[in-house]
Amino acid sequence: MQGLMTSIIGRAGQSIRSEKYEKMIERFTQMGNLLDGDGSRPVPYLGNRSRCKAVLEKYGFSFRKKFGQNFLIDESVLLGIIDTAGITKDDYVLEIGPGIGTLTQYLATYAGKVCAVEIDRALLPILEDTLAGWDNVTVLNADILKTDIRAIAERENGGRPLKVCANLPYYITTPILMGLFESGAPFSELTVMVQKEVAERMIAEPGSKAYGALSLAVRYFTEPKIAFIVDPGSFMPRPKVQSAVVHMKRHASPPVDVKDEQMLFDVIRASFNERRKTLQNGIADYGLFSYSKEQAGLALDACGLDRRVRGEKLALADFARLADVLVDMR
Ligand code: SAM
Repeated sequence: MQGLMTSIIGRAGQSIRSEKYEKMIERFTQMGNLLDGDGSRPVPYLGNRSRCKAVLEKYGFSFRKKFGQNFLIDESVLLGIIDTAGITKDDYVLEIGPGIGTLTQYLATYAGKVCAVEIDRALLPILEDTLAGWDNVTVLNADILKTDIRAIAERENGGRPLKVCANLPYYITTPILMGLFESGAPFSELTVMVQKEVAERMIAEPGSKAYGALSLAVRYFTEPKIAFIVDPGSFMPRPKVQSAVVHMKRHASPPVDVKDEQMLFDVIRASFNERRKTLQNGIADYGLFSYSKEQAGLALDACGLDRRVRGEKLALADFARLADVLVDMR
């Protein structure tokens, strides 16, 4: 256990603040029993380069770039994800993209049940093999963007909230997150590995370069936090960029009240469609709206906003007020 903790501290833990860090050590001390095997479930074995390589070679698997396949090979990162997500036996976890089942093995060890949705059919025989010891995992061969997550929660977990956990395929990070938010599926928390640059956009504050539509959507639905940064060496093949694990706790109710949620997201899109435009021009030129430039200006006046303001300066509450005024002007 000492060696394991050292590797968490030395690698994934570098950017974790100290109190978070203390908690993590405490939890891993408790988890030690499980990792050594508590007799009820197998011990995860894939968090390691040579074992992953052996599985890939056994099945002659070739990575498919178009599916964003960068598999985790680092146990400290895998345990960091479990710890960040606070997985316990009471949890039903939805995993997006299990790959060869590496994170899935850890999730299945600590959670009550896991449903893993994988698009690549070639991975199915591998998953059957690597997850054979766990009887609490269901693998669905499907595109997560076309999967009815609400129905999964209903069918598998009696409509109770799920935890979402994933090393996401980076090429569709935003559509996956937006799809989850807008699905109406009950989930309590999301813990996802994304590109570091995307993580920075997710937590960005108004006025910063990274701030945009994704930051606002994430804030509207959740309370986001970057848990830790992950180096390319923790994956096979190595991605070109650094990654980050982001934890998002879903709000019980959104932090702002709006008359029409769709309008809120349309105004946000209109605002960031072309970042250089003033918000007044963004609203007037947005294809889904039919407000004139003068009407857009009047809406901004009604909110006490300068007609030359750009969306990147506005907080979620400003967008909410503006959306309500535009609804009244319809
Ligand atoms: N969880 C594994 C790990 O950490 O080693 C694999 C993560 S890999 C970054 C992303 C996984 O998502 C791949 O297995 C890929 O095939 C799968 N994937 C890509 N697009 C998908 C989609 N639209 N629906 C479901 N799975 C997808």
